[in-house]
Amino acid sequence: MKGDRIVRIRNQRWRIRFVPNLGDCEGVCDKPARTIRIALGYPAEQTLDSVVHEILHAALWDLDEEAVSETANSISQALWKLGYRPPRGRQSHQDRS
Ligand SMILES: [Zn+2]
Repeated sequence: MKGDRIVRIRNQRWRIRFVPNLGDCEGVCDKPARTIRIALGYPAEQTLDSVVHEILHAALWDLDEEAVSETANSISQALWKLGYRPPRGRQSHQDRS
């Protein structure tokens, strides 16, 4: 699909796709399809966290949810402070100030 990004995760090709809606989820990691789906419409900080979170699932499939969440939060907060922003996602207040 147009706008998909192809990334390499532990030497496998994965697709990152931004979609309008994922129900209650902000991100989904589909291992058989090697596709990460990220819901649009969330604040950019949350979107960055979702991207890191789903990449961690893809890379470390057997890592439990708590470890993935805590690690994703740490990495995404550090990336955010360094100025990294996701390609999509709503602008947050911090972006505008
Ligand atoms: Zn998860």
